[in-house]
Amino acid sequence: MERFTEEDVSLILEALEFSASRHRNQRRKDAGQTPYINHPISVAMVLWRTGGVRDCRTIAAALLHDVIEDTDTRPEEIEELFGAEVLSVVLELSDDKRLPREDRKRLQIERARLASGPAKLVKIADKICNVIDITHSPPRGWSIERQTDYLDWTEKVVEGLKGCNASLEARYDEVLREGRDALKNRGE
Ligand code: ZN
Repeated sequence: MERFTEEDVSLILEALEFSASRHRNQRRKDAGQTPYINHPISVAMVLWRTGGVRDCRTIAAALLHDVIEDTDTRPEEIEELFGAEVLSVVLELSDDKRLPREDRKRLQIERARLASGPAKLVKIADKICNVIDITHSPPRGWSIERQTDYLDWTEKVVEGLKGCNASLEARYDEVLREGRDALKNRGE
């Protein structure tokens, strides 16, 4: 069994505290308006439980994966608190919000293949969580068609992540299939 050092546990708890504080005023777009922080925690859990990922920097990056994209956190803060390695993974996972949505979505597909190992792991775990969220508690106002398009898009991104972790890939395939079935049933 793996042993974690005091530093490993500190890194993860500090990432969790930092992320919770930065996302504290944000909610997910589902009907229940789930606190935003539940999402990065779920991504970290999928890595840990399903993926068997035991690299604490990857787990920390999962907890922090949306702080640059979605809050006013500066890259220097992440570097200072969590180191250059965690920062570089978080940057790989951050879309440039100045670009139009369609460009950001296209870039995610194009860049998936080029991502580092840790970034690929967080990305596939993120897509697993998003597919589950979209199909079980969809954002308010999203039509079945929009949800279906979203699922199709994640499939194209995940195509570029193949080979990073067999358990995560199998789990993605499973949630995608379940999600598509659920949408089909709802659409009928
Ligand atoms: Zn995410």
